[in-house]
Amino acid sequence: GKREGRGTCRVFEDSMDAELRERAALEAELREAIESGKIEPFYQPVVSLPQRDCVGLEVLARWRHPTRGLLGPDQFIPIAEETGMIADLSYHLLRQACLDARSWPSHLLLAINIAPQQFQDRDLAQRILAILAETGLSPHRLEVEITESALVRDLEAARATLTSLQNLGVRIALDDFGTGYSSLYHLRELKFDKLKIDRSYVDTITMSAERAKLVDAIIKLGSSLGLVTTAEGIETDASVDWLSDQGCDFGQGYLFGKPMPKEDVAQMLRAGPMP
Ligand code: C2E
Ligand code: CA
Ligand code: CA
Ligand code: CA
Repeated sequence: GKREGRGTCRVFEDSMDAELRERAALEAELREAIESGKIEPFYQPVVSLPQRDCVGLEVLARWRHPTRGLLGPDQFIPIAEETGMIADLSYHLLRQACLDARSWPSHLLLAINIAPQQFQDRDLAQRILAILAETGLSPHRLEVEITESALVRDLEAARATLTSLQNLGVRIALDDFGTGYSSLYHLRELKFDKLKIDRSYVDTITMSAERAKLVDAIIKLGSSLGLVTTAEGIETDASVDWLSDQGCDFGQGYLFGKPMPKEDVAQMLRAGPMP
């Protein structure tokens, strides 16, 4: 009857309240964590194929939360994006990563993810360059990873930002290639340095001949446009062999190394070529 209906509704509202409170708490904690530097860069190696030499490191955000443990980006990047905190988070990570990278061999590239929302800031390029200047890292050692969703809202603004970065030697990688809806359009309109083939394709190359043909075509497309390619999410030797044979330039994945704190990077660099 009516009373039950109201009861159900109240339970629903109470649980919504709880969710909203939880979310508001997390938001406040995240703000505090960004300000106090508790968002930390982890680094995943990028290797050359077929040699498997480490040629760079991708910065992946981790949050050392006092009670919840080590949190991955899926648990806080979306909140940071929705609330506009992503810019501060990102500049903090970049600054920290540039400082860390100064003690690594200078041929290693540092790759950083830039969220679509950040392209609304007309000063994005200037702010990145200011952090490079402040930390003393050469622009030639930085690579910026963007996804196609960064280009959808305002292509001209994104072009201006990317061009000013590239003019100073920063490289631009198109991330998660193959998951957007208009990849060829953006390849035509903008000049990238690198394509990163999404893990969802790399996962299945040794299982599906059709997927393998797509990945092969992406590698060929990239090289015919003068771009280098990185395959992400490599977990098996069979995939490495196949990707090398097709001419894929770089690889990244658990087979070579998981994202790790900076202490482990130094140790890895001393150990030499990857397994
Ligand atoms: P992404 O940029 O595509 O980064 C690669 C993700 O794949 C990372 O997840 C990495 O740990 C995971 N991965 C790498 N190799 C393997 C593998 O062999 N197997 C499997 N199963 N996974 C692998 P992570 O660190 O959880 O990051 C997830 C996403 O969060 C990133 O995807 C990126 O889009 C975003 N993200 C991370 N850090 C930042 C950041 O600082 N800023 C922004 N805007 N986004 C970030
Ligand atoms: Ca990335
Ligand atoms: Ca990616
Ligand atoms: Ca991905």
